[in-house]
Amino acid sequence: MMNNIEQLREFHWMMDILQNIDVGLVVLNQNNEVQLWNSFMENHSGLMASSTRNQNLFELFPEIEKDWFQHKLESVFQSKIRAFSIWEQRPYIFKFKNYRPITGVAEFMYQNISIFPIVSTTGKVENVCIIVYDVTDIATNRNALSSANEQLEKLSRTDRLTGLNNRGYWQERQETEFAHYQRYKKDTSLVIFDIDHFKNINDTHGHQAGDEVIRQCAAALKMCARDVDICGRYGGEEFVVLLSQANEEQAKIFSERLRKYIEELTVNYQGIEIKFTVSLGICALSEGIETPQHWLEKSDQALYKSKQGGRNMTSIAQ
Ligand code: GH3
Ligand code: MG
Ligand code: MG
Repeated sequence: MMNNIEQLREFHWMMDILQNIDVGLVVLNQNNEVQLWNSFMENHSGLMASSTRNQNLFELFPEIEKDWFQHKLESVFQSKIRAFSIWEQRPYIFKFKNYRPITGVAEFMYQNISIFPIVSTTGKVENVCIIVYDVTDIATNRNALSSANEQLEKLSRTDRLTGLNNRGYWQERQETEFAHYQRYKKDTSLVIFDIDHFKNINDTHGHQAGDEVIRQCAAALKMCARDVDICGRYGGEEFVVLLSQANEEQAKIFSERLRKYIEELTVNYQGIEIKFTVSLGICALSEGIETPQHWLEKSDQALYKSKQGGRNMTSIAQ
């Protein structure tokens, strides 16, 4: 008698834990009918245990991918080993809204799930238990971190004023293109250009107007370049472009198109109309060029030739 009361107490105590534990507990029989639905599941699904009792899980939750989940359940029934589902692969099984204030960014509750067999005294598995872990905090922190990392990485290689690649990152890309050429010998050209008499623009209209000219010049470059071309702001009013798969003539065509486009452009800055031109230098990569630095120097010499030749023109490296 005493023993029975002890057992009953034990049972109530167990049930109390199961009810109040901060994970979801669902027991299913072999027909996928709910045998146990704890308060975590009640709270998050809005369904009372009494209304889920003996109901088919897939009818209660049509959004569960039935074939996949059924397969998992069967493997637990048959092989008597645990099965899992993790949020990285499947964000959730039960679509519960996320109510947590700190993680208000997530729309739904991210879940890890484990399913284990409940072996009866006869050694049969007549029920399985599904445990639902709320991993929203972990998932959103991880997601936020990786998106912050991505943003930081993008920022660290972008020029603030123009949105072009900054000098450091562009140089990395130039090195990669150079190494690529040495292996595959595919045509690759470098174009460098510089705004003509830019100091005059600053002196006449102010530094802010100068900034706007730099911005519009970068926009013109983006207009004329293809997606595969690697554009960068090398310095104040100096820009660089790597044209992969372009020989000298093709680079010349690109440069002239850009030069004419900019020549036609009028920058409007607070009611002032500003016209400007650029001078360009081209160097197509060839055997004689030994380093990325050498490649850039040769392009720069061609640019210098354009400046000497009267500006608003393109020159090709010797
Ligand atoms: P050239 O035709 O020979 O290139 O003449 P230039 O006046 O363009 O050449 P220079 O290199 O003498 O002048 C460039 C000026 O650009 C000097 C510098 O004050 C200005 N500058 C550099 N960076 C910026 C910037 O980010 N914004 C503005 N507004 N001006 C800048
Ligand atoms: Mg200049
Ligand atoms: Mg300059």
